[in-house]
Amino acid sequence: MKIEARELSKIYGNGENRVVALDRVNLEIGINDFISIMGPSGSGKSTLLHLLSGLDRPTSGSLTYDGRDIYSLSDRELSTFRRRRIGFVFQQFHLLPVLTARENIIMPLLLDKKQPDEAYLMQLTELLGIGDRLGHLPHELSGGQQQRVAIARALIAKPDIIFADEPTGNLDSKSGGEVMKMLENIWKRMGTKLVIITHDSQIAQMAERRFVIVDGVLSEVTVK
Ligand code: ADP
Repeated sequence: MKIEARELSKIYGNGENRVVALDRVNLEIGINDFISIMGPSGSGKSTLLHLLSGLDRPTSGSLTYDGRDIYSLSDRELSTFRRRRIGFVFQQFHLLPVLTARENIIMPLLLDKKQPDEAYLMQLTELLGIGDRLGHLPHELSGGQQQRVAIARALIAKPDIIFADEPTGNLDSKSGGEVMKMLENIWKRMGTKLVIITHDSQIAQMAERRFVIVDGVLSEVTVK
């Protein structure tokens, strides 16, 4: 699947309060791309991620997934599309505290009235090193383990792409490093596109294609 953003802009507010959060961004995400986007706080990273994943709509510009115009979908169609085709990993994990790790992981499928593919669930959780933690509640897990549960949840519906917003932002450097290695491993083994937003240049450098965003303007870093 190919994803193409054309001239995406997002403007908040009017008059004195007008903020151009995203300024005519063009981006093509090809099959099996691993992309990192780095930029200072307030540069437009989250806005871009929200637009690329259809969580929000732009002021102007277009976004297609395999030629299909995503913003022409209704909110309801868009949320079904997201649930089936896109995985999210957040800085704050966003696990439901009263559900076990396993229940959290399969939640996106249950919302779609589907049953998990048990073999795939096992493969995924083994790969993430949480196979023996599935009966635990989130508060019984370390931060790194919670994030790995969140990654399994992002992957359970076999999405085409994973968007990760500062996935290691809430972890110490050791568990952050482990989580990144696992994400990279999953990207290699499962052929899922991966887009990571980060402050951390070491993490940014793990990606195949690197971008920086400053004042809403996105540019690709060409490696010499
Ligand atoms: P980053 O993720 O890089 O920290 P954001 O995408 O959150 O940056 O924000 C980009 C710019 O848009 C910032 O100047 C921010 O203050 C502004 N912004 C973000 N969301 C809103 C909003 N809902 N209303 C008004 N301004 C916003």
